[in-house]
Amino acid sequence: MAKICIVCEKEPPGEAYPVADDAIIRFIRAAKRKVNLARNNELYVCKDCHPAYSERRKKFEKNLVFFIAGGVIIFFGINVFQLFFGRFSVFAFLASIFLGVFIGSFPILSYVPALRQGPGLPEAAPVPAPRRAQSERTRREKPRARK
Ligand SMILES: [Zn+2]
Repeated sequence: MAKICIVCEKEPPGEAYPVADDAIIRFIRAAKRKVNLARNNELYVCKDCHPAYSERRKKFEKNLVFFIAGGVIIFFGINVFQLFFGRFSVFAFLASIFLGVFIGSFPILSYVPALRQGPGLPEAAPVPAPRRAQSERTRREKPRARK
């Protein structure tokens, strides 16, 4: 399996944070396998990409809260409205579930997965990405730029 950074989409040059393998990633993988698009990469965030990643992740978390709240409000809104007028239609109830789930799952389109270590991550030392087998290809040695 190739290692790939989810931000720059390149192989992490040394140290990188591993991405947590969660239900959504497994679902996306399974879906891709069905249509033969699975690349089965091991996902990382390289050290240099971490600030960009954190920003994306924060944005995603905000979106998630916003859309799930929106879905819940739509679901309750429709049904409270129905009950208020004393007419309960099963069709409207099913439509409210569908709409609620539809709206709540919107953020999946811009899914940004969590990193493996959980909440304490920014302080945690990056885990060095295990090197590939040397025989696979000779590693390009880049002169390290000083910062
Ligand atoms: Zn990167």
